[in-house]
Amino acid sequence: MSDCLFCKIRDGEIPGDIVYENDHVLAFNDINPVAPTHILIIPKEHISTLNDLEENHTQTMGELFIAAKAIASKEDISDSGYRTVFNCNKDAQQTVFHIHLHLIGGRKMLWPPG
Ligand code: AMP
Ligand code: ZN
Repeated sequence: MSDCLFCKIRDGEIPGDIVYENDHVLAFNDINPVAPTHILIIPKEHISTLNDLEENHTQTMGELFIAAKAIASKEDISDSGYRTVFNCNKDAQQTVFHIHLHLIGGRKMLWPPG
């Protein structure tokens, strides 16, 4: 999608601090981190929100979580713990409309989220 921020990072049109990549997903540091580790994992395919998922996205969605596991290990937060979050639309405060899995860790978090 031509005016999508995360498609532009995927295509190298704007810089991203990339930490992981494979055929299906790309991961980069969040520009405004809320914890010592805050990484966004995106599918290379543009999908605007979780509401746009189709049956054929099953593998892609699994790849996001497999990448999260691998990155958490690399960041040394597997044992201490981490949170994975998708925000969908306005009540969840989604601001970038290319789905992204937030991988957040490196500090103790609160529950429930605000
Ligand atoms: P969300 O509110 O779930 O849509 O999350 C969007 C996330 O994208 C926020 O945590 C932002 O800090 C992050 N973000 C916005 N622009 C960039 C960028 N250019 N590079 C990396 N992360 C970004
Ligand atoms: Zn996109």
